[in-house]
Amino acid sequence: MTQRRPPGGTLLAAGLLSLALTACDDPPQRRQETFLAFGTLVDVTLYGVPQQRAAEAIAEIEDDFRYMHRTYHAWRPGALGRVNRLLPTGEDFSAPPSVLPLIREAKRLSARTDGLFNPAIGRLIELWGFHQDARPDTAPPERAEIDALVAKAPSMDDLVVHGIRLRSRNPAVKLDFGAFAKGYGVDAAIDTLRELGIEDAMVNAGGDLRAIGRAGDRPWRVGVRHPRGRGVLAAVELHDGESVFTSGDYERYFEHEGQRYHHIIDPRTGYPARETTSVTVIGAEGATADAAATALFVAGPGGWKDIARALDLEYVMLIDHDGEAYLTPAMAGRVEWVGAEPAAVHVSAPP
Ligand code: AMP
Ligand code: MG
Repeated sequence: MTQRRPPGGTLLAAGLLSLALTACDDPPQRRQETFLAFGTLVDVTLYGVPQQRAAEAIAEIEDDFRYMHRTYHAWRPGALGRVNRLLPTGEDFSAPPSVLPLIREAKRLSARTDGLFNPAIGRLIELWGFHQDARPDTAPPERAEIDALVAKAPSMDDLVVHGIRLRSRNPAVKLDFGAFAKGYGVDAAIDTLRELGIEDAMVNAGGDLRAIGRAGDRPWRVGVRHPRGRGVLAAVELHDGESVFTSGDYERYFEHEGQRYHHIIDPRTGYPARETTSVTVIGAEGATADAAATALFVAGPGGWKDIARALDLEYVMLIDHDGEAYLTPAMAGRVEWVGAEPAAVHVSAPP
């Protein structure tokens, strides 16, 4: 059992500490609170909002996150769980209205990434054990089992949507929205804040985040985690409404016979994507940036540019397994390296 995750205890303690300090020490114009959702710490920071209104806004967001966590959980009872029970029957059924928008969005993003972002591979994720917080054994699954699932080629195209009716043409489809539900949730939270008239805020779900306005008298400035070690690789200043999402091989993995097996699966092979260690995308919508980071991770140093072009992404940074960085020119113009620069920095525009 070598499942490694960031030391949650320390993080949680730090989160709670900042929560405790918020109550007494924060200047009145800044309010920050932290809660658990989507298996991670969600940090909400608001500027220039009276304390009472800020507390109400954050409570509303926390409620929304808990609801989305329940609703979009592929492996527990809930709306998506129900969809996953009914899809293999091949019959059509009324899809929960809470899940339909994600299915539509996932179909669109999957098509634009050539299926590299493929939330229909839930069974593969299960076979690898990455649907669980703690993985029960240390060996990868049998190749024959992986090959059998890959041969069934579950895809978002297999889902037929008519109004609220849904069916799957392929019984092997099982939906796992783990690669973009967080982005969807962060977008929803930012929408809620804007509807409440809040202009300066950040919603940060374990390093994946979206910001509006400014951090008081300065722009929002965020760190991108170094894929190896606990430090920060780069810092970026954010414009109004921008999201930053990172997919990394360090988030969920186990080691077996000296080889790392992580949670981002190449749907073409059924195995963890080999050549990337992390991808960071800056974009407007969190849902798109989140799905894009996962797809670009799978595409790797050889294929990322085609996906970046298909999704119209301006800001991409990919770190490969040798620690070399690949950036779009626009991204290169915005990142500030913190500490040592990557082993090599390649800047090139998508064709
Ligand atoms: P992320 O951290 O956003 O890259 O999402 C990774 C999670 O998405 C994994 O834990 C899986 O649940 C799921 N996943 C893994 N590979 C893929 C893929 N190729 N397409 C869509 N979802 C995936
Ligand atoms: Mg993602």
